[in-house]
Formats: sequence, structure tokens, C-alpha cells
Amino acid sequence: MSEIGTQSNPLRVAIVGAGPTGFYTAEHLFKQKEYVVQVDMFDRLPVPFGLVRYGVAPDHQKIKSVTAVYDRIAQNPGFRFFGNVQIGRDITVTELSRYYHQVVYTTGAQTDRQMNIPGEDLAGSLPATDFVAWYNGHPDFQDYDVDLSHENVAVVGVGNVAMDVARILCRTPEELATTDIADYALEKFRHSNVKNVYILGRRGPAQAAFTTPEIKELGEMEDTDAYVEPEEAALDELSEAALAANSDRATMKKVEVIQSYAGRPSTGKSRRLILRFLVSPVELFGNEDGQVVKMRLVKNKLYKTESGTLRPKATDEFEEIPVGLVFRAIGYRGVPIPGVPFYDSWGVILNREGRVIDPETQAPVTGQYTGGWIKRGPSGVIGTNKPDAQETVQNMLADVAAGQIMRPDHPEAEAAAAMIAEKQPDYFSYDDWLKLNELEIAKGKAQGRPRVKFTSVPEMLAAVGKS
Ligand code: NAP
Repeated sequence: MSEIGTQSNPLRVAIVGAGPTGFYTAEHLFKQKEYVVQVDMFDRLPVPFGLVRYGVAPDHQKIKSVTAVYDRIAQNPGFRFFGNVQIGRDITVTELSRYYHQVVYTTGAQTDRQMNIPGEDLAGSLPATDFVAWYNGHPDFQDYDVDLSHENVAVVGVGNVAMDVARILCRTPEELATTDIADYALEKFRHSNVKNVYILGRRGPAQAAFTTPEIKELGEMEDTDAYVEPEEAALDELSEAALAANSDRATMKKVEVIQSYAGRPSTGKSRRLILRFLVSPVELFGNEDGQVVKMRLVKNKLYKTESGTLRPKATDEFEEIPVGLVFRAIGYRGVPIPGVPFYDSWGVILNREGRVIDPETQAPVTGQYTGGWIKRGPSGVIGTNKPDAQETVQNMLADVAAGQIMRPDHPEAEAAAAMIAEKQPDYFSYDDWLKLNELEIAKGKAQGRPRVKFTSVPEMLAAVGKS
């Protein structure tokens, strides 16, 4: 067996999933100097960037500019992109092992967690993940139906996804019209009747998962007032003590911003964002058409667990609020890939520091790795995936040094390209994406927007002259 990782015999790596972690994995692989590496990156969609394109809110364009970094990574001569190719459907995991020494799964977390309460399946009770994908123009969601004729909307959870959803619901059409929000969504928001958006936290202000800039932004909306009930903005004794003991300045700052909304009188703006704390939805009620009309909440109290964290406990105090739409923003969840070990209770690929683990033997599966949300769960900001990818790459390189890699029958770049073209003739190359990108930007420029997205796969293919 000749040496792997040389000019004549490069280390061939397949990265499955072209989101931030996929690109950071490629970057770390290209940065090291020990081995010559070639990367083929796959995505089930024709276009790259995953969560940056389809998760980051359209009114957060600055965050989206991180794609310039990914563009640079893609310029490495050892990099190829194969979009519109789904691993597990078009090409199996076993087939990949015949062409690559190592495979890294960076597929993110594509679905949502459930509240598990009665009425959760009523019409109008929806996962925030789908709503986010819809307004961002994800091709899987172009036919998604959301009824914005309701005045009262609840967003369950107080993480940054809840902030994004609440903000987008409360932006004016004029504000949205300067973003790259999907055209069909913009049209729907123009006719929105939404007036009150309740954001529901099951714990107190000091335990809110959102970050300070995001909560500040809610107070700076053009036509929406932010409001918190004064008694819910106040800290309970346990939270006060925990903050003081840890001198947690970041959380203190966040609590300060929340408290600045306490009891704020209306300034006459058209919409209201009402932040609630220490409440949990316990049941959703529907009308005769199966449409959600009301939510029952229970008031919570905090208690301290043995490990010292403050958890919510239901009291016997209930209340009901009228709602026509409910978005649960209580966390994303990973989706298994056929042929890859999955740890269902956490919704992640079974792994140790990025090495995929065989559930039977608990030993690493040779040549199989993972990174990002599908490795550690849906937490952290985009940049968190950089060190996460680095950990995986370090282990990949250690395994190369130890000779623990797959031994493909066809380790040549041309052989892999021929196999892919046979399985999915309509694959998208990075050049195809760059072409599409230019078309989107040009269309956007004409309307004073950063881009106008193509929102269906056939449209994308046609735009670059495929199919
Ligand atoms: P998250 O930050 O984990 O927040 C989830 C929220 O849901 C928490 O408030 C959690 O409360 C609550 N929750 C969970 N189960 C619940 C239940 N059964 N009933 C009521 N509430 C429940 O998750 P996320 O908002 O999906 O965000 C995922 C990651 O992406 C985060 O790291 C986030 O910061 C990041 N992100 C960042 C940005 C940005 O930088 N602008 C934007 C979007 C997302 P508990 O704390 O009580 O469990």
C-alpha cells in the first residue's frame, strides 16, 4: 500500500453537507501541511451554505456575509462541490467508501423538537424550523402554508430562533423588502394581520437562552413595541443569588435590557411583542375545523436541582390566551442518514470527538467522522463550528498517521466524478453555484435588495442551463 496524502496519492475526503461546518472542516484540512488533501463536498440541495442561507434571518445580512470566507475555501484547487446529490439516496454510504479514504457528515439539524402537549398537531401549531426555512426560500418549503390572518401568535421558547421568528413576524413590509426574504413570503407578510406576538419562556429572564444584541433588537423595531410584565421581569431569589455568586455580567446585562421593557407604555405602534417568563404551554385548543384558537399556560416556579441549575416546576396557577398561530422554537433536531449510526435520544450521529462510533462495539468506524450540529446538537453560533470542525480534523489526521483509513477501490478524483455524474447527472458544481449567485444578486440589485433567491430546484437547474 503506497503512502496516502502525497501529490500522486492524495488523501481523498468526502464532506457531506455544505453548511458552515462542512466549509470549516475543508478549511482545516487544507490548512495543515502534512498531507495533500482533496475534498469533494456534497449537498442535497444544488446550492451551498446550509444554515447561513436557509436559517440565518433575512434581516441579519451581516451574519450572512460569512459566506465570503466559504467562497475563499472553495477556491482551493483541491476542492470540488457536488450539489443536488443526496447521500443515502443518490449515493449510498457504502458506495462512498469505494471512492474516499474518509467521509465527514456535517448535515446539521434539519428538523424540530416537540412540546408533547395535547393539541400540538392542530392546524396553526407549527415548528419554527419550517417557518424559518419557508421565509428563507428553502426549496422544500415553497408550498408551505402559513395563515397570517390571525392577530395573536405565540412563539414558544426564548432562544435566538424564537427571537428571529418574533422579529420577522413584527417587521414592516418595508423593512422586509430590503432583505433577501423569499418573494412569496414577502407577499404574504404584506397582508399579515398579526398584532400581538407572545414569546413564552418556561424559566425566568436570567435563564433566557437568547443573547443580548437579539433582545435589544426587539426594542428597536420600526412599528412594534416590546413589552414585559413587570412581575415577570423581576428576578426571583434563586436567580438573584446565582447571578451574584457567579458575577455573571453578561447575563446581568441581558436582564437589564429585559427589565427596560417592563411595563413600557404603548407608543402607538401597530404591533406588540409581549415577552412572558415562567410560563409553559400545557394544552392547545382548536375550533370545529381543527384550527388552534387558544393556549392554556401554567405558571412555573424555579427550583434548584442537585447540580445547581435552576429548573421550572409547574404551579397550580393557569391562564388562557387566544392564539391563532403557535410556533414552537424549542430547539432543532438532527435527522439520521441511512447507514450511519445515530443516537436517537440526542438526535445526533453517535460519535466520540467527531469519530463515528459503532453502537455494538463502541469502537470507531474506520474512516467515518462527523462535525457541527449533527455531531454535538444544535447549540452555539456559526463560529462555534470552527473549533468543533478542528477537533474532528485533528482526529482524522491522527487516524491517517495511524493508517486507520478506508481503502477505496477507486481513490482517483476522476473516478469519483464519473460515479457522481452517473448517479446524478444534474449535479451542481461550484461554478454553477457562482453563476446562480450572480443571477440572484443581479435580480436583487434591480429591486434594491441583497439578492432575490431561486426557491425551487427545477428553477435553479434551468437558470444554469441544466435539465
Ligand atoms: P436554544 O438556544 O437552545 O433555545 C431553546 C429555547 O427553548 C430555550 O429557551 C429553552 O428553554 C426552550 N425550551 C426547550 N424545551 C422547551 C419546552 N418543552 N417548553 C418550553 N420551552 C422550551 O435553541 P434555538 O433558539 O433553536 O437556537 C439554536 C442555536 O442557534 C442557539 O445556540 C442559538 O444561539 C443559535 N442561533 C443564533 C442566532 C444568532 O446569533 N442571531 C440566531 C438563531 C439561532 P430552557 O432554557 O428552559 O431549556
